[in-house]
Amino acid sequence: MDDRAARISYDDATALVVVDMQNDFADPDGSLYVAGTDDIVELVNTHLQAARSGGSTVVLTQDWHPPETPHFVTGGGPWPPHCVRETWGAELHPDLGTDADLVLRKGTGGEDGYSAFTVADPTTGDTTSTGLAAYLDARAVTRVVVVGVAGDVCVRATALDAAGAGFDTEVPWDATASVDPDQGAAGARADLADAGVAVS
Ligand SMILES: [Zn+2]
Repeated sequence: MDDRAARISYDDATALVVVDMQNDFADPDGSLYVAGTDDIVELVNTHLQAARSGGSTVVLTQDWHPPETPHFVTGGGPWPPHCVRETWGAELHPDLGTDADLVLRKGTGGEDGYSAFTVADPTTGDTTSTGLAAYLDARAVTRVVVVGVAGDVCVRATALDAAGAGFDTEVPWDATASVDPDQGAAGARADLADAGVAVS
């Protein structure tokens, strides 16, 4: 039993963005298992419940890649194939709460899909909005809380974009897990702090 509290106040001007809590990252049998992700599912659910109780907007993201993409080593990219659309690995962890206002799938067309706000073309680097900032603006959201995986990759990218889009942004770090829990996590935390993100 995980009795850690959410440590975050949730209200109707806040959005909780739960990043990529999918089998390929969260299950030890996943193709890109991020150690410790299975240990934060319960804490992330605590955030989901607190966000719901506080009237916050709840967004779940999924990496949602085509079978072949420049994002994968098989296409010249940095990552082993993961979260291929319509596969077990791309499904949300079975214990994760799914009461959300929006499930946002990213990387669907071969883009990198790191951030929930923008995706970049792997060859040109051109970024395209996912529409999330406008969605949150339309719901009068001014504050974004980001949790999930990986802390040093997609959580980092999502929180940096949230801050860049003008949202007050917070990352409760205990509700994340990182690919590199040492240097990678430390570097991400420093980058976020530099960007004005409150990392607690
Ligand atoms: Zn990916």
